[in-house]
This record gives sequence, structure tokens and C-alpha cells, in this order.
Amino acid sequence: MAEAAEARSLDEASRASRLRLVELATRYHAAGWMLGTSGNLSARFHGTDGRSRAVLTASGCDKGRLGPEDFVEVDLDGRVHAAGPQRKPSAETSIHLAVYQRLPDVAAVHHVHTVASTLARPATGGVPGEITFEGLEMIKGWGLWEPGAAAPLPVFPNHAHVPDIARDLGSWLDTPRPVPAMLIAGHGITAWGRTPEDALRHVEITEFLCRVVQRLG
Ligand SMILES: [Zn+2]
Repeated sequence: MAEAAEARSLDEASRASRLRLVELATRYHAAGWMLGTSGNLSARFHGTDGRSRAVLTASGCDKGRLGPEDFVEVDLDGRVHAAGPQRKPSAETSIHLAVYQRLPDVAAVHHVHTVASTLARPATGGVPGEITFEGLEMIKGWGLWEPGAAAPLPVFPNHAHVPDIARDLGSWLDTPRPVPAMLIAGHGITAWGRTPEDALRHVEITEFLCRVVQRLG
């Protein structure tokens, strides 16, 4: 009986995460930030064995029409634990796992393709590099409240072999960082947070700041 109850609670935790991710994907898609099946969202939850797992949007799904089956569950080493019919992990799963493996408080990772973040480049023009934001009210949305705080947003190369992007991000996260987001050059935003709402806010702040540096409306 205890095992059945645990299995049911796991299903409920996974289902609740999926339904929230469907809501978020619908919102991002409506904003034009997950067009053409682009981007992926995930949530961390704990299995009945006490281990962390992540539920992610599956590869190739229209983010404006997701259903609860359009997901894949993996353990933090990337092994598939469960998947909807014909559903496969996104190639970008490794990027989500690089965050979850290093930041135990993080329970949400969102990756979107926006116009401003696709255009944004480090001031030096070189990649990898950083875009540093200072004196801007909106960096408070990243959690940086100190007067005069500087917020360095990293920009990593858009390696064709996605695990190389995850490797770059993982190496960067091995040092504590003030900014809960990163860019992949010519590609988009990845942001994370303790809750789905935190990750959403961090994506929105990143997009706003990318618009500022691009002088976009
Ligand atoms: Zn992408």
C-alpha cells in the first residue's frame, strides 16, 4: 500500500509539473519566444527513491499546443525514466542538466529563442564573453539589489554539438554567479530559478535587458 501511495504521489508531482510547463510554454509561444517548436522548459522534482529527476518538454513539439504527454522525464545523468508516446529528449537536455547538477536549489530551467537575445553580443564582439549591465533598475529582477551592482551576463558559443554548450555552462557555474541566466550566441536565453515563476521572471528580465542593449522597443 505504501508503495502504491508513493507511486501515486510521484505521478501527481510529475503531472502537476507538466501542467505548469504547458501553461508556461503557451505563454512563451504567444510572446513569440518559442516559435517553430524552438526552446524547451523543464522542472525538477523528487522521485520516490529520493533522487532528483527532471521533466522536460520533448523534442520537436509545437509549444503552443503542448499536452501532458509531450514530455520526457530523465534522471540527472540524462537517462530517460519515462516518456510520452514517440516522444524523445531534446538535444538541449544536457543544458538543463548542467544547471540542475550544480545548483541544488534550482527547480526550473527555461530556454527560449527571442529576437533580442539572438542579436545580443558581448561588447568586445568575441564569444565567449559577457554583457555587463550596470545602473539599470531591471537587474533587481535577477536578485541584484545592491546600489551600483554590476550584472555580467555570459555569452557562450553556439556549438553544433550541444553537450559542448552544456560543458561551457557547467564550467561557468562551478564558480558562484550572481546572474541566473546565460545566452548562447545567435541562439537564445537560458534562465533558471527556485520556482517556475522565478525562472519566468529571469527570462523576462534577460529579454528586457537584451532589448535595451539592442535599443529595441
Ligand atoms: Zn535552443
